[in-house]
Amino acid sequence: MKIQMMKHLTVNFSRIFLILSLLCVAAPGCRKGNVVSSPQKLKGAYKGYNLVLVSLDTLRYDRLGITGYKAPTSPMLDTWSRDAIMFDSMISNSSWTLPAHHSLFTGQFPTVHSANYPGARLANDKVTLAEVLNRNGYDTCAWTGGAYVSRGFGFAQGFAHFQEVGDSKELIMDELVDLSTRWLENRNPHTPFFLFLHSFDVHVPYTPPTEFLPPFEPIPTSSVDATDPFTLLRIMNKDITLKPPDLEYLNKLYDAEIRFVDHQLGRLFNALDRLRLTDRTIVVLFSDHGETFQDHGLIMTHAYTLYEEVIHVPLLIRLPGLTEGLGLRRQSLVQTVDLMPTLLDLLGITISDSKVLMLGKSLLPVIAYDEPVNQEVFAETNYNNHLQKFPRMFPGRKHTATRVIRTSEYAYILDEINDVEELYSIKNDKHQQQNILNESPAVVSELKPKLKRWMSAVSALSGARTDAEMDPETVKMLQELGYIDKSGSKKQ
Ligand SMILES: [Zn+2]
Repeated sequence: MKIQMMKHLTVNFSRIFLILSLLCVAAPGCRKGNVVSSPQKLKGAYKGYNLVLVSLDTLRYDRLGITGYKAPTSPMLDTWSRDAIMFDSMISNSSWTLPAHHSLFTGQFPTVHSANYPGARLANDKVTLAEVLNRNGYDTCAWTGGAYVSRGFGFAQGFAHFQEVGDSKELIMDELVDLSTRWLENRNPHTPFFLFLHSFDVHVPYTPPTEFLPPFEPIPTSSVDATDPFTLLRIMNKDITLKPPDLEYLNKLYDAEIRFVDHQLGRLFNALDRLRLTDRTIVVLFSDHGETFQDHGLIMTHAYTLYEEVIHVPLLIRLPGLTEGLGLRRQSLVQTVDLMPTLLDLLGITISDSKVLMLGKSLLPVIAYDEPVNQEVFAETNYNNHLQKFPRMFPGRKHTATRVIRTSEYAYILDEINDVEELYSIKNDKHQQQNILNESPAVVSELKPKLKRWMSAVSALSGARTDAEMDPETVKMLQELGYIDKSGSKKQ
């Protein structure tokens, strides 16, 4: 009886869903509950619109008010997000800056674009989102935090104006907003623009301005040096014993940096309003990876593992005339490589260049009515050759090439080199504390072959390795951010 009732409800729900979808095909700007449009209507709906893409480097998904965090990190974004779509199941294709950002700009997985090891740069023959937009008449401008998001690593491709700002010890989001505002004020108003902003403000070192600390007080005193990225090494090797107040101290500094960024984003959106650009501009906020706070031992870093705290990231998209006031949430699985095909679809730009190989999927069905386009998504990290510095965390491991296949229910992690496998239930254990590999052989037998097939496929598409030539300034910044150790050798 119950089964029959369930079938009846399912049929009815499907019928309602179909009717709503058909209505949306017929009527522009249709908004029926969770259904806001149709993929067919969204395709090209923003032709000639501007695009602002902001990368909030190292921002965890779970540190915003909108995602349930209790501390007041994001009052502005919590309000602004009511006019945007929040993608609650966004997985970054890598857990560190360089490969994750190139996946954003190429629509390719790290193994395919091959800028996936410390010191790699994007090959010149790869075609980026900025290049496609520039070729289609867009004025392209980028202000970045430098280091791994710099000219030397291939990020200037396609930008008419590309500038690295500040150094790793300063927070730069205020300066990025000032520079962007001046640029927006002086640009040719008859040309659509693509503005890309990136900052390491919530990355180590944790140095929030003092005026952003009060919302998080009381802040415990601590002798831990939050400004030294190599504090991590000393903590992990037990030269420093981290006590609960130390952990709280580091968390609150990180939170205060998010609050600073939140405030500056508010200034950016106000500038768009003042310049009457909001109604003609798609805004995308995303993070390239999260950060560890001893979720799985490590702290103040991200590149070594593929657990949720480093690959589950926020993604917000504001679409003028469609998403205002709805506070839309989307639960379907999405990944970084999906962004480029999605944005080009929205902007009505078709690709004729055979060199463009986008491996993600357009998210128009997810935007329209949360219809899944990915049954599973993937992430990988080759941040290796440095694990021996964490003997307690990675006993016996010197090199790794870790991959994860993530479904809405499970995460299966495989490190083939070290023969390490893990399986976690996302639904029952979202913090991934219980490895259920041995208890769930049926799940492993389903996910492991899928992951191996994906690994074979991306390996077959892998490009040639291209090493970056790093100038002394870039080397210094990478040292300060913890990517290269003080001896100058690459922290791999
Ligand atoms: Zn990063």
